Amino acid sequence: MTATSSPPTAQADPANRPGPPLWLLAEVTYRCPLHCAFCYNPTDFARTTPADELDTDGWLRVLHQARALGSVQCGFSGGEPLMRDDLEILVAEAHKLGYYTNLLTSGVGLSPARAEALKAAGLDHIQLSFQDTTRELNDFLSHTRTFDLKQQVAGSIKEMGWPMVMNCVIHRLNIDHIDKIIEMALALGAEYLELANSQYYAWALLNRDQLMPSRAQLERAERITKEYRQKLGDRLRIFFVVPDYYEIRPKKCMNGWGNVFLTVTPDGTALPCHTARMLPGLDFPNVRDHSVQAIWYESEGFNRYRGTDWMHDSCKTCPDREKDLGGCRCQAWMLAGDPSAPDPVCDKSPAHHLVQDAVARANQPGALAARPLIFRDPKASRALSEQAASSSAPARPAGTTA
Ligand code: SF4
Ligand code: SF4
Repeated sequence: MTATSSPPTAQADPANRPGPPLWLLAEVTYRCPLHCAFCYNPTDFARTTPADELDTDGWLRVLHQARALGSVQCGFSGGEPLMRDDLEILVAEAHKLGYYTNLLTSGVGLSPARAEALKAAGLDHIQLSFQDTTRELNDFLSHTRTFDLKQQVAGSIKEMGWPMVMNCVIHRLNIDHIDKIIEMALALGAEYLELANSQYYAWALLNRDQLMPSRAQLERAERITKEYRQKLGDRLRIFFVVPDYYEIRPKKCMNGWGNVFLTVTPDGTALPCHTARMLPGLDFPNVRDHSVQAIWYESEGFNRYRGTDWMHDSCKTCPDREKDLGGCRCQAWMLAGDPSAPDPVCDKSPAHHLVQDAVARANQPGALAARPLIFRDPKASRALSEQAASSSAPARPAGTTA
């Protein structure tokens, strides 16, 4: 099936009706004072201006409707969610509605006064991101002087009694500091540490050749992480997310399309994952125009890649089809140019060589020096949007190699 064929309807057979969107990700703004070279926001994020953002009432409506449908966990994300002055109002309402609430933050803007206000609002949990254990690299990768501030914020998170997840995106430039990153998480009192190897979407895809670690780096980091896990036990729970380019089977992306996750972007567009807006031939609904229930159960955007009916034969006849559901639709589009194709991470995909080529480049000496990193900022975003608009090629995200 091609992207322009009629979509299968998950509702046609009530037995196939998906469960509720258990996880609501509220991307309340794309504004962010940092400029991370691996940022997961879309490269054209600057098209969404503050004036386009859902207002407080809009977000309150989303919280009510998603909770009524069965959502239980709400992550407030961005950009930097603390850029929104009404964050405390949203968190308080989510708490009152019975969500488990999560704040995903760079720490910038979490002053002692706001920390107290968020505590009073009932915020359950904070994920604080670091870029590295050294001031030099942390500040270089985020293109801001934020290292000292993040240390202070980690201290106030603990003082307020929140459980803390420390998140560090791992890549070629910091992977050799893995032991120091773990030690820093311990010293800051984190309960959980997420060592999230960069996945190559958006800004990270643009910078893929600079960010992808070599196999030797990756193996060393995994070994050290295992040693720490054994040594620390429950004192610090460490998650190590492997870069999927080094796998031969794709991830079950978002635990299945439209299965558990609902993302609402700053302008109110509802997506099955935060990058899905790039996919061609799909018009994703907006919470300003449709109820969350209609979006989740009835919209073409959410039904298109549910289940297995949409698959190409190579996936449809594969014994692993239920295990990975063909992998990531965005990765299939970005690399193979067909969102219904098997994820090119899979070694059965005809486009798998594109992944292998990127890995081979990362393992060549001198790969890092190829060109400077492109940092996420509105000016670069506007330039990339203009570049994409003036190109005669189909509008695939910048950085795509196929
Ligand atoms: S990855 Fe960096 S630039 Fe992107 S939203 Fe997070 S803190 Fe901001
Ligand atoms: S062919 Fe498709 S279903 Fe089979 S392992 Fe590869 S991506 Fe998964």
